[in-house]
Amino acid sequence: LRRLILVLGDQLDREHPLLRAAEPARDALWMAEVPAESRRIPSHAARTTLFLAAMRHFAADCEARGWTVHYRQLGQHDAEDLPTALARDLVTLSPEQVAWLRPGEYGIRQALHATTTAAGLTPEEHEPTHFIDTPAAFAAFAGHRAIRQETYYRHLRRRTGVLMNGNEPAGGRWNFDADNRASFGREGPGLIPAPRAFPPDAVTRRARADVATYLPDLPGSAEGFDWPVTPAEAEQALTDFTDHRLPDFGRYQDAMWTGHGVLYHARISAALNLQLLDPRRAIAAAETAWQEGRAPLAAVEGFIRQILGWREYVRGIYWQRMPDYLDANALGADQPLPALYWTGETDMNCLREVVGQVLATGYAHHIQRLMVTGLFALLAGIRPREVHEWYLGMFVDAVEWVEAPNTLGMALYADGGALATKPYAASGRYIQRMSNYCRGCRFRPDRRTGEEACPFTTLYWAFLDRHEARFANHPRMGMAVKNLRRLYDGERHAIRERAAALRSAPP
Ligand code: SF4
Repeated sequence: LRRLILVLGDQLDREHPLLRAAEPARDALWMAEVPAESRRIPSHAARTTLFLAAMRHFAADCEARGWTVHYRQLGQHDAEDLPTALARDLVTLSPEQVAWLRPGEYGIRQALHATTTAAGLTPEEHEPTHFIDTPAAFAAFAGHRAIRQETYYRHLRRRTGVLMNGNEPAGGRWNFDADNRASFGREGPGLIPAPRAFPPDAVTRRARADVATYLPDLPGSAEGFDWPVTPAEAEQALTDFTDHRLPDFGRYQDAMWTGHGVLYHARISAALNLQLLDPRRAIAAAETAWQEGRAPLAAVEGFIRQILGWREYVRGIYWQRMPDYLDANALGADQPLPALYWTGETDMNCLREVVGQVLATGYAHHIQRLMVTGLFALLAGIRPREVHEWYLGMFVDAVEWVEAPNTLGMALYADGGALATKPYAASGRYIQRMSNYCRGCRFRPDRRTGEEACPFTTLYWAFLDRHEARFANHPRMGMAVKNLRRLYDGERHAIRERAAALRSAPP
């Protein structure tokens, strides 16, 4: 065996650059399903099923194309973790070279280097071509500056020519966010076409059964599993989105509604992050929809910014800031993650809805993650590391490079503003404005204190109170601190008391 090519579960790109460059007669692929990847940080049953099903489909495709795949399947070997499984196979297969693409997780990257070196081989790592930019190019562009997403996004728009008219942005504006903040009002979202579902085939059903057999204690349910697991399905999911939901995606991207876990969102993040779908393809599909008059520019720009701007940006930040990033805790948050994140059992209706949905499906859309589960963790001062691990395990699309900056930087402000310009702190009134969750809740979002007060509202004021000195002169938080200073001392005291009770025992 000349070269063993390691393929990880989030690298299922059929146009994998190492495959293109290799020869099936002399080289082979290596893939492994290991319990530690689902147990070390508890991984939702649907997330684990998705990774296993997509990996098995990838391996079958490669074998059909003439490749030898050394595939270590769950239950058919006893290595607990990836380094152990790899170390054993380096002995038995004895390749001359081992190569892989940069993993999506810093710790795995370290482990692959250590295992290969210990086996007397030279680690050979290449950059995935799936992404539009590379960590090195990001670092060269950012230098030592704390660059903002918007700056980097415009740089990539110019470089790729996406939504550009020569040197000018299409439509004369880089960003249409101001047009993208509608709620559904009192009437609700009406009829939204249900996203296309992908019922499990025999391979996926077997993966799901193996998860139930060998990893019976995982959180969440894979009962209703319907995620795309192949490139063909990922393409169908993309078309379904651009045909049916993209036109209203921008307008309602911050809205939430009871019983609606997808609304106008794309539902392609898992396919992207497992590299079943190329981001250039998703961007081109949206840009074409605009050019053909099938979707407005504000929606298309908002969607493209998530992929070309935000997704590439958080990856740059991740590789620039690791390994220290995972320990970030700029606000000194010190509370344990409440049990309600694992059970959904709480009187707070918004959290009950969103956590219940996550347990059932492994998915919540962006604003549910940021402004319900993330907002509560920010305001209650929950330890960032525990929140990070919850997000990493509980969402079908979570891979550390994308999840960690979104959780630690965007939702929790744990990096002190390296990624976001301000904390996304808001009271229950934000949730009331953007959803119907508060109508079914025993709490009142307009009350700051007392038993009836919405915990988000009490905790919002307590958050400002705790961090008053830090944010008093902050350009985007100063007004909130001024409002805090208008409260009577007695009210501030009552807020502190109630907040302490809410933080130690969330209702
Ligand atoms: Fe959530 Fe507060 Fe609204 Fe209840 S009142 S749903 S806790 S925001």
